[in-house]
Amino acid sequence: MECYYCKGELKDGVVPYFVKRKGYQFVIDRVPAYVCSQCGEYLFREKEVDLIQEIISALEQKIALMIIPNPSLQRKNSLRNNISSKLKTDKLRLKAT
Ligand SMILES: [Zn+2]
Repeated sequence: MECYYCKGELKDGVVPYFVKRKGYQFVIDRVPAYVCSQCGEYLFREKEVDLIQEIISALEQKIALMIIPNPSLQRKNSLRNNISSKLKTDKLRLKAT
């Protein structure tokens, strides 16, 4: 499989996953992924994308219980949409290669 950006070879590896949103930051130190041996760009597999999506949505639900009332429904929804569209992009890139 080729790197989307530089056409280098993608190899099995691990990368950190980092997300920063209003109200929280979340890091997974080591997520299995395809990593480009040339430029270091990476792609998550579908399995990890799904898992991360589950983790974040569970996380958001718990955090919503904790954060002081104020966030309008609209803001919550747009946060969720941002996350899923980013993850969808990763998924599409994965399928395209
Ligand atoms: Zn590359």
